[in-house]
Amino acid sequence: MTRQTDPALEPLKARIAKAQLGAEIEERGKVVSIADGLATVDGLPGAELNEIVTFSTGARGFILSLEENHLNVACLDPANDVAAGTRVTRTGQLASVPVGESLLGRVIDPLGRPLDNGPRPDSTERLPVERLAPSIIERDFVTEPVETGLLVVDALFAIGRGQRELIIGERQTGKTSIAVDTIINQANSDIISIYVAIGQRTSAVRHVIDAVREHGRMEQTVFIVAEASSEPGLQWLAPFSATSIAEWFRDRGRHVLIVYDDLTKHAATHRELALLSRQPPGREAYPGDIFYLHARLLERAAKLSKARGGGSLTALPIAEIEAGNLSAYIPTNLISISDGQIVTSQSLFAANQRPAIDIGLSVSRVGGKAQWVSMKSVAGRLRLDYAQYLEMKMFSRFGGFGDEAMAARMKRGERIAALLAQPRLSPLKLLTQVALLSALNEGILDDVDLATISHLKTKLPSAFAADPILSELDLTSSRLDEGMKSSILEVVRTTLRQT
Ligand code: ATP
Ligand code: MG
Repeated sequence: MTRQTDPALEPLKARIAKAQLGAEIEERGKVVSIADGLATVDGLPGAELNEIVTFSTGARGFILSLEENHLNVACLDPANDVAAGTRVTRTGQLASVPVGESLLGRVIDPLGRPLDNGPRPDSTERLPVERLAPSIIERDFVTEPVETGLLVVDALFAIGRGQRELIIGERQTGKTSIAVDTIINQANSDIISIYVAIGQRTSAVRHVIDAVREHGRMEQTVFIVAEASSEPGLQWLAPFSATSIAEWFRDRGRHVLIVYDDLTKHAATHRELALLSRQPPGREAYPGDIFYLHARLLERAAKLSKARGGGSLTALPIAEIEAGNLSAYIPTNLISISDGQIVTSQSLFAANQRPAIDIGLSVSRVGGKAQWVSMKSVAGRLRLDYAQYLEMKMFSRFGGFGDEAMAARMKRGERIAALLAQPRLSPLKLLTQVALLSALNEGILDDVDLATISHLKTKLPSAFAADPILSELDLTSSRLDEGMKSSILEVVRTTLRQT
């Protein structure tokens, strides 16, 4: 006689039949020690570099380095309640960031979490924070400029689309302002700007965001912020995740500008994490891989070939130096992995020559090839004339020059200095820049006093806008022919008469 079973037991029986019996492997780890946002973890033998792990408290971290007997995990959330013995589990996911159009206009942290009280970016696509840089055959020559709107940069150190130009100088010498002015000048261009704040004060970051909100085009800008008070892990990730966000646009044929403010602080965070994880310290106590870390970051800036869509990623890393020491470890590293540097000088800044760019130490190794022809034709002698003036100025402190030719050069030099000075948030368009330099070259400004020159700079744009022909003139595509030049100079003369 077969025993009747209760039909209610049937589902249970089915489950038992399906159950897999036998040993089950779950990777478990536990925290051995934790200090200042870095945990040493035991276990998790299958874990990968850059993988996200979760602590049993809910906090997350990522695997910063793998050692023979343990892992180093950098925390991405406050981990006050994580302690020795806390359980750690793998997620199987590498550190990644949401990418896509929905990030435009947003302020987010390096994991894509909103910092602007807005909703989570509704992006379904994510990219890993570490990605390979484009190979040589995927790249094209850098031939088009990113206009900064700063006359001194566009004329002397033109930056090309796809170039890496370092902005380096002592603290409070206007480094951030040069980058922010460049972002603001993209309000009328097709370039998307990405500003990454690493280890900055909240007030400084706020200042930048407000400037772009007010003077730039917010909906074409993304801010990735890991301030000084953020977890070191977040600060470490910031430049990498921002670059992945930028690459999503670059790989779709778009043009992107990325500002890393600043990599000196990033290097300091890397050093801090390395020392906590007991990696052997090298020069200036930085771990040996710091050069490779920044090299592989900046290699991701590129101008892509037509076959790859022709997009570009231009990088403006910022670095701080102490006591004018350009040859310290991190500055020399960064100089050698970028295509030029804009050096800001404390003495020029103090003398009110702002942007305080030292033209002797600055260089753009791609620039000239990427400069518009119209600009190139008027900027030719500028650097030499200005350099000579600065030299003469230094010597004339010991007594004036009697020579008339010398006096004329001094006069010209003073006008160049006045032209190259520019207040913050007042970018100049290409036409105005070319007009000012042509007027200088023709000697039109020689007898104009210096105060009038700064008035001229503010009045010229509206004078050009009012001119029916010149307002339509696009100097990016054309050379500056004689006819054009004389009508431009005519407007300059008229504007001078009115000021
Ligand atoms: P930090 O080392 O603190 O990051 P920084 O080198 O980035 O400083 P900024 O913050 O850009 O320098 O500028 C320092 C100060 O100089 C600011 O108060 C800014 O308003 C002023 N400044 C910068 N550029 C100009 C300019 N072109 N004209 C007038 N003032 C300027
Ligand atoms: Mg700054």
